[in-house]
Amino acid sequence: MKYHPNLSTGAGDLAVSSIIDTSTNYKGEFILCIEGGIPTTIEGNYCVIADKDGKNWTMLDAVKELGPKAKYVIGVGTCAAYGGVVKPSTYTGVKTVKEVLNGKTSNPVINLPACPAHPDAMVGTIVTLLTKGLPKLDSSGRPTEYYPTTVHNNCPRRMTNMASQYGEFGCYRELGCKGPETTFSCPLLKWNNGVNWCIDQGDMQCISCASPNFPAGPFYYGGMGSGGMGSGSIGSGGTTTGGMGSGGTTTGTTTGRMR
Ligand code: SF4
Ligand code: SF4
Repeated sequence: MKYHPNLSTGAGDLAVSSIIDTSTNYKGEFILCIEGGIPTTIEGNYCVIADKDGKNWTMLDAVKELGPKAKYVIGVGTCAAYGGVVKPSTYTGVKTVKEVLNGKTSNPVINLPACPAHPDAMVGTIVTLLTKGLPKLDSSGRPTEYYPTTVHNNCPRRMTNMASQYGEFGCYRELGCKGPETTFSCPLLKWNNGVNWCIDQGDMQCISCASPNFPAGPFYYGGMGSGGMGSGSIGSGGTTTGGMGSGGTTTGTTTGRMR
């Protein structure tokens, strides 16, 4: 890895030169990983990642400059893929990686939505790019290996009785679970090295963190709790790259047992 906003030990010019050198010396060979939605209003100045040539180098500048030079571009997380929590704000004019780089990349932008992005999906996709090339993507640019079907289809609570409150074993559909509308393999991958995930041991509904509609429901806008704003990072490598960012739920009801 050549650059990561948090993991790189260098800072200032040293860090910026690492990004520029990589994009020049490995043009057409490196992987650019972009985390977060990209602010576009006030010329992108809601997200300044560095000082370059005496001017603000915004995330927007960096994505436009580095994206076309990369072999592969990955939108890491829901904000990069769909806009996420910051997309509804008109102040920052957040766009997705694909919207900013539309048609300017040598390969299709790869999206790895989820909030946060799943480490297995991210590392696994990078390894696939390095060893086999572009994986099979769906119409949203997601690797089908990690986004094969809905959360609901792999949920162990399918065909159980409707729960009336969290903590009660059963299906959370009547409490607003968005598993049937959200495509992701989190029930199989789980989180924290396979220890747990939202619904099963977490006793919480799916809030559709990997969905294009996230956030679009009571979790963030009343109903069941509150959320916050995120922000992101950009990274690049000889063959791999670092992070670039900014960053965002849902309900519905049915009755009876979910199939
Ligand atoms: S609707 Fe029920 S079965 Fe489907 S994902 Fe949610 S909790 Fe699981
Ligand atoms: S269950 Fe839903 S909210 Fe939880 S990680 Fe999976 S997609 Fe995201």
